[in-house]
Amino acid sequence: MKDYYEKGREIVKKLLDNGYQAFFVGGFVRDFLLGKVISDIDITTNALPKQVQSLFPKTKATGLKYGTITVFEGNHGYEVTTYRTDGDYINHRKPEEVSFSTSLEEDLSRRDFTINAFAMDYEEKVIDLFEGKKDLENHLIRAIGNPDKRFDEDALRILRAFRFVSKLGFAIEKETLNSVERNINLLKEIASERILGELKKIFEGDNQKTAIKVMESTGFGKVFPELDKGLNLLSKKEFVHLTHLEFLALCFYLDESEIPYNWRLSNKDKALINKIIELVTVTENDSYNEMIIYRLGQDIPLMANTVARTLNPDNDQENLIRKIHHELPIRKTCDLAFKGQDILELTSERNAEVIGDIIDDITYMVITRQLPNEYEKLKEFALSLMETKYGKG
Ligand code: ATP
Ligand code: MG
Repeated sequence: MKDYYEKGREIVKKLLDNGYQAFFVGGFVRDFLLGKVISDIDITTNALPKQVQSLFPKTKATGLKYGTITVFEGNHGYEVTTYRTDGDYINHRKPEEVSFSTSLEEDLSRRDFTINAFAMDYEEKVIDLFEGKKDLENHLIRAIGNPDKRFDEDALRILRAFRFVSKLGFAIEKETLNSVERNINLLKEIASERILGELKKIFEGDNQKTAIKVMESTGFGKVFPELDKGLNLLSKKEFVHLTHLEFLALCFYLDESEIPYNWRLSNKDKALINKIIELVTVTENDSYNEMIIYRLGQDIPLMANTVARTLNPDNDQENLIRKIHHELPIRKTCDLAFKGQDILELTSERNAEVIGDIIDDITYMVITRQLPNEYEKLKEFALSLMETKYGKG
């Protein structure tokens, strides 16, 4: 991590040596001041993207439209972005066009919250135009400028406020919080992919519980009625820690609704959510058994269990799921001591479907421990099965 920062300083230095201004900026400086683990380093400069590209040997234009060039040093990537002002906001979202600026002040003013608008120079001197340090000390998330205007420009900032509550455990400052409440309906106009992206981050934070309470109290559930019951339930729980997909599964389960078509989830995530809902339903009154764990592995059952125990703390089957998984006699069909290939060698059966059915039956017997996973025993069972079921041997 030290190396990551030192290499970042070299980038800043090189920009300075070439007559440009350059500062560390945004979330990096915030986390640096908080002494938190650093995820990514952002640098802001008056050098234009082309000038940045020409100074460093390894770069990639990762966000050319917004003036961002990723500079690679060692194994690390650094986002170097030209000072900019955001043009007109369209549909409460980030503008399509931005204009470059020559002023650091302008660049910092376009940022969302005071604690996200620090710049730090090569000597580690922090430039704090919006009293962000005070907010950092008081653990407050405060919009820069007029919060109504800032949320109207870009409603995603409302969710970003929730994200920082969850990540940092800070509170939203009163004026900003009132504005979140007034403007929460603007979220209706944000594309669902973006909402999902922020939800994921909100649920990754250490202070998820605090964020959920704020979301619930500011009317997030009224904007997304399909999430209302889930959010409401979670806001009353002592302890919760769900992923965003577990949260969505919980919500759709409680709402007894299908995944709404306007939630643009990937097919993989949709399938996972549906599987979780199915397992929660199936295991409401029944325990997990070997066959379920054999078919699904333990990860999806564990996710479903997280949802189930949120609904009913008495229904916590985590230990059972782990125990069954640990003790499974086989994990895959190819672990069977007697295989499809053996049927081909020992019998005249050539119908793949029939062979598949026999292997399924053998698997069932082994998984449920009605038979040991031993060649002779399984062979005997298979041959007698073929005789009784299919009249062959
Ligand atoms: P994290 O540690 O969660 O990544 P971050 O502060 O780095 O937090 P990013 O989404 O990576 O957040 O954005 C980097 C910086 O860009 C922010 O700190 C902020 O200054 C600015 N920023 C990002 N999105 C917006 C936005 N929608 N409106 C205004 N400023 C923004
Ligand atoms: Mg970041």
